[in-house]
Amino acid sequence: MIREAGMFELLAAELRIAELEKELAEAREAASTDPLTGALNRRGFEQACQRELALARRSGLSFALAHLDIDDFKNLNDTLGHQVGDKALLHLVNLLRKSMRPSDVLCRFGGEEFVLMLPATSQEEAVKAISRFLRECSANFIPGTDRALTFSAGVVVQDLSESLEQAIQRADEATYAAKRSGKNRVVTG
Ligand code: GH3
Ligand code: MG
Ligand code: MG
Repeated sequence: MIREAGMFELLAAELRIAELEKELAEAREAASTDPLTGALNRRGFEQACQRELALARRSGLSFALAHLDIDDFKNLNDTLGHQVGDKALLHLVNLLRKSMRPSDVLCRFGGEEFVLMLPATSQEEAVKAISRFLRECSANFIPGTDRALTFSAGVVVQDLSESLEQAIQRADEATYAAKRSGKNRVVTG
């Protein structure tokens, strides 16, 4: 009888531990992802890139970073509503997931800005990939609308001597140059 009670307590404790482990995994995921799109947030992205940067420093194989900023997103919100704006963000992420390699890492950097990390990729290859994605984006309507998205993007290759922050800053500046020269294009930095 006593032995049975002990077994029961052990089983209950094991169940509770499994529950707590599940909660911990969920909390970890929530802390590193953006709830709207499921892309990594800055914190999750930083961790993924630091791992990749350490790998790149050992292998000498640099990764590319692309900074994407949706064009005229405020106008989309203003004309079709914030909910359609939210849908458009999810639409972009879904298209991007289909077009990316499984090893690429996507971050919602903030608002309507995304950063993509492409491991072991040259600048030329990254520009090709992002330009192809830009064409796909502009050819697919946001669900429930007759409008498609375009974006402006900056592409850089991570210099192994600079910080991740510096590389993202360079990509951001290239995006700014893409905006200034007319939007809907990819510029290198
Ligand atoms: P540009 O072509 O120069 O990038 O112009 P823009 O309108 O895209 O950029 P701007 O910075 O003027 O506006 C960005 C807008 O994105 C404003 C903000 O309300 C909207 N936004 C940011 N986060 C979200 C979101 O989560 N959902 C929706 N629907 N809108 C968002
Ligand atoms: Mg912006
Ligand atoms: Mg924008």
